[in-house]
Amino acid sequence: MPVSNSIRAAAPEIAEWRRDFHRNPELLYDVHRTASVVAEKLRAFGLDRVETGIGRTGVVGVLHGRAGAGTRTVALRADMDALPIHEITGKPWSSAVPGKMHACGHDGHTAMLLGAARQLAETRAFEGTIVFIFQPAEEGGGGARTMLEDGLLDRFPFDEVYGLHNMPGLDVGRFAIRPGPIMAAADVFRIDLEGRGGHAAKPHATIDPVLVGSHIVTALQSIVSRTVDPLSAAVVSVTEFHAGDTSNVIPQTAWLGGTVRTLDAGVRSFIEERLRHIVASTAAVFGATAEVGYRRGYPVTVNDPRAARFAADVARKVVGDAAVSETADPMMGAEDFAYFLERRPGAYIFMGNGPSAGLHHPAYDFDDEAIAYGSSWWVALAEEALAR
Ligand SMILES: [Zn+2]
Ligand SMILES: [Zn+2]
Repeated sequence: MPVSNSIRAAAPEIAEWRRDFHRNPELLYDVHRTASVVAEKLRAFGLDRVETGIGRTGVVGVLHGRAGAGTRTVALRADMDALPIHEITGKPWSSAVPGKMHACGHDGHTAMLLGAARQLAETRAFEGTIVFIFQPAEEGGGGARTMLEDGLLDRFPFDEVYGLHNMPGLDVGRFAIRPGPIMAAADVFRIDLEGRGGHAAKPHATIDPVLVGSHIVTALQSIVSRTVDPLSAAVVSVTEFHAGDTSNVIPQTAWLGGTVRTLDAGVRSFIEERLRHIVASTAAVFGATAEVGYRRGYPVTVNDPRAARFAADVARKVVGDAAVSETADPMMGAEDFAYFLERRPGAYIFMGNGPSAGLHHPAYDFDDEAIAYGSSWWVALAEEALAR
């Protein structure tokens, strides 16, 4: 089925919902207004069950297909939260809240899944059950994990799960996906160094944490360049270096901060271990002490190969063979959807947002022309997943 005619007809209305979310951005778990609009619409569409407050402010809708037929359940997920960025698009639907904006297109994701939910509820042309997941706190808050910890899988069991993200730079009407890792794991570290402070003119009487930190920054660059297989993607970036207050004092302490991005769980653990080892031994060489705080963030988002193929097959039916790539490059950004894929097979696909500003940029805006494609993909995905 190509772009659904009824979705095409509904697209202007879905765009209005999108612009309403855009005007009213909310951060992390504080998505009360968005969640209540979502729940209200799902109830109005006639879903069989709508529950709020899952994982603090998540919303889940359940829709059964033709009575008595089918036992399988597919979950479709959208994210609802915005970012702490001051919008500069100047669009009529610009954020009404200074310092907050939908700069990642989650307004579009939520509206498109709502559009699909209405269509699927009207036609119920599937067998089995659809679970619609609207999650809070994708932008660094682990909303997916919180929903899972709140019993999402026990209360709304599902067999497979799908997610979609818009992609600036990819033409509207195109989809891109890959089997295996598609988004990176994102970890953060902080290294606290303690040397011996003193007069800058008597360095021999000090242990200089600035020099120690500098050696650590350099040595950490050897992890990716000299110990990780060049065919495995990884990033180690030191993004902060704090030390000292004035020109004639060698400080007592310094601290470094940064991030590690990986596409493989084994590489991820290896880099953490190497980082700890390099920091401890480099500090020891200079007689300083070091403490490493290493916090694991979102895991690698890994597409199940069969589900990725299926998601691409559905996209080809909606937009044609030439508009779908199954060899998308993985991205070193991280995605909360990874937690769902750790628990159930499924896939995460990119959908073109055209030549817009990049994600998380203050001039970014979701392209409403993409709505017909995204909502149609969701409808076709659910119908086909539950026709098998
Ligand atoms: Zn984002
Ligand atoms: Zn996003």
